[in-house]
This record gives sequence, structure tokens and C-alpha cells, in this order.
Amino acid sequence: MNDTLAIRGGPRVVPEGEIRSWPEVTDRDREMVMAALASGRHNFGPQCQKLQEEFAAWNGNRHALATNSGTAALHMGLAACGLSCGDEVLVPAYTWSSSATCVMHHNGLPVFVDIDFRTMNMNPDLIEAAITPKTKAIIPVHLHGLPMDMGKVMAIAKKHHLFVVEDCCQAHGATWKGKKVGTFGHCAAFSFNQNKLVASGEGGAFVTDDAELLERAQKVWYFGETHDPSKKEEYHVYALGWMYRSNDLTAAFGRAQLEVLDRNLAAIKANAGVLAAALKGTPNLILPEARDPEGHNWYNYTLRFDMKALGHEHDAGAFRHRLVKALVAEGVETLVWQDFALPDMTVFRARNAYGHGCPWSCPYGRGVTYDRDAFPQARRHADWHTGMTFPIRHPNGPRQAELTAKGIRKVMEHIGDIP
Ligand SMILES: *Cc1c(COP(=O)(O)O)cnc(C)c1O
Repeated sequence: MNDTLAIRGGPRVVPEGEIRSWPEVTDRDREMVMAALASGRHNFGPQCQKLQEEFAAWNGNRHALATNSGTAALHMGLAACGLSCGDEVLVPAYTWSSSATCVMHHNGLPVFVDIDFRTMNMNPDLIEAAITPKTKAIIPVHLHGLPMDMGKVMAIAKKHHLFVVEDCCQAHGATWKGKKVGTFGHCAAFSFNQNKLVASGEGGAFVTDDAELLERAQKVWYFGETHDPSKKEEYHVYALGWMYRSNDLTAAFGRAQLEVLDRNLAAIKANAGVLAAALKGTPNLILPEARDPEGHNWYNYTLRFDMKALGHEHDAGAFRHRLVKALVAEGVETLVWQDFALPDMTVFRARNAYGHGCPWSCPYGRGVTYDRDAFPQARRHADWHTGMTFPIRHPNGPRQAELTAKGIRKVMEHIGDIP
């Protein structure tokens, strides 16, 4: 066998074209979208309404609103909880940017909490120290599909009278103590973007069990009106609203994808199991894990390189990029999902989202500042990781998981050969 790394001209482990793309589009998707097109109703209509009912039923929520993104649903959630100008919201220091910028969308101030390196989620033991009299809500993000410890989060929220808006954008079907995420907090946001587990191009859902929160979210969702979209429009604006609704073409696609969600979740879980077994014992690799009662959906199988053991703590980010290049050359579809902790991103460093330093300079705020050194675990994770999604998603199966693991092992076992 030729052990030369592909990046050095050797043969690649995962053949070209082996990994199939996501999502799989079938005749069922075409039939649903074409029927919506032919119906003549293309804006918010019966397809959106059915998607709302079906998604709420699937997840175990009383209400759902079909949105044009997960970010919109997050913003709606904060507005529904009554977020006011200058209020503070606790968010993890490592997550997708809009888990935090959604707070600024409503003139609130994100306050970062460092992550737990093992779970890659907000460290629940650091939450209480970040609470101030201005704190209004917590956004627990179930990052990569690993649920947060919702027992701890809800107990802290109750004690301090805080709202909880779950960011479930990566966590469809993930469970805590056997219960689906998005059913613990006051409300939750899901994304139906193409990379997510209900892939309808773009889209999302706001979910809640609370009729009052639903009504307040509805205003933000649709121009500040409160009427039921199935009824006659009032043409009266009651509150400041945006335009966050979905449309029937997208919703039809989303409904078709929702039909295969459980099948897809089972496939990902099985493939992640194959990958984990094949990667066990690979030198200098830290594998993601889920401990009881964490029900991981394996949305993203995130690997970390043990930069300490490799002697690359000082240049971890740069060395990681070299490792990832070698992996990609082997045909391993991996990518550095995000190599910044959020407090290191320019939007937060500049503290000037709306001009005039607003919302940080807002007289209602208390001038939240971001000490970059306060988030050592988020920064370490940002430099040490690489992510993986498509190789373990349907229609890829155990064969693709095994080949992917083989490619990773080859690189990690020949680390001295990396240019
Ligand atoms: C994708 C994602 C979002 C935003 O969803 P969009 O539909 O892209 O707006 C928010 N939070 C997390 C954790 C995400 O992964």
C-alpha cells in the first residue's frame, strides 16, 4: 500500500465523487414544489400553514411559525420575551454569529459566556457569574447538535427570572433526558437552511407553547400586524415589525424534507457511530462525545487536534489549517467551520452596529465590554477544531464513514510528512 500523503502526491483515500451531496432531492420534493407552483399560491399560504402544524407536531410544540430563516426566528423569540433596549442576553462565546447578533437586532447587548471544551457548548457553570440586573434572557445553543444541560439552564433561569430562547438551528431531533430540544425554553428557533437537517434552501421555524409569546412573535414576523394570515388583512400596524415569513414554494420543499427527517437522523447517527468506532485510538485526535443524558443528533461531527500533545499550542490555528489541507487532499470533506470566538469578531470589537456606537452606547445600556482573554476555551476550540457534516449524512452510508475515517487516520499517522 502506498502510504504517501495525497498532499505529497500519493493516492487519495476517499475517491473523487464518493461523497454525495446534501440534501438528497427526490421525485417527492419535485412533486411537492411543482404542486405549490401550480396552485397559484406562492406567498404565505396553505403549504406554510401545513409546515407549521407538521413541524410543531413533530417537535412536540403547541405552536410554530414558518420563517424565512433561523436568525429571524431567534429575533422573534427575543422580541416575544419582551427584550427592551439595553437589556442583556447571555450567549455562548463560540457559536454561529447570529446566535448573538439577533440580540443586537432588537437593540439588546450580547454578553458572552465561555464554553466547556468537552461539549463545545456554553459552560452552564459560568452562567450565573455573567448575570447582572440588566440580564433578560439566555440563549442556550445546542451546537453541532449536542444539547446543552437544560436542567441546569432552566434552574438558573427560574432562579433569576430570565427567559430562555433555545437556538436549535443545528439540533433537530437532539434530546436532553429523552426530550426533544426546543421544548425546554420559553420558545426556540430552528433553521431550514440547506446545510441544516431540514433543508429547504433557506427557512426556519419559531416554536413555543405559550400563546402570548406566539402573538408577540407574530407581530415581529409580519410587519407589526397581529392578524392571522389566513384571515382578512387589517392593514393596521400595531408594533414595530419585520418581514420574516416563509413562502409556499419553500414550505412545500420543507414539508417534503420533513417527511424524511427521521430516516435521515437515524442514518446520521448510524454513520457517526461507524466513524467514531473507526477513529478510536487515532493519535492526537480528540473525538466528540455525548454522555448520558445528552442525545446528540450528530449534525456536525467536530474533531479537535490535540495541539498540546502535538507541540503546536503556540501556532495551533496555523498548524490546524495545514492539517485540514492534508485531510482535504485525501478526499476527507472537512472544513474549519468558524475559526473565531465571537468576542474576537469585528462586529463586536468595533462596538458600533448602528452607528454612534449604538447599541452599546445606548443610555439604557451599561456599556458592556468584551475582554478577549475571558474566553480561553472558546479560543482554544476555535484554533483546534475542524468540522464535518456531509460525509455522514444520507445518502452517504457506512462505506463513506469508513473511508473518511481511513483518510483521517492516514494523515494523523503520518503527521511528520505534512508540508
Ligand atoms: C444556521 C444557524 C443559525 C441561523 O440560521 P439561518 O437559517 O441561517 O438564519 C443560528 N444559529 C446556529 C447555531 C446556526 O447553526
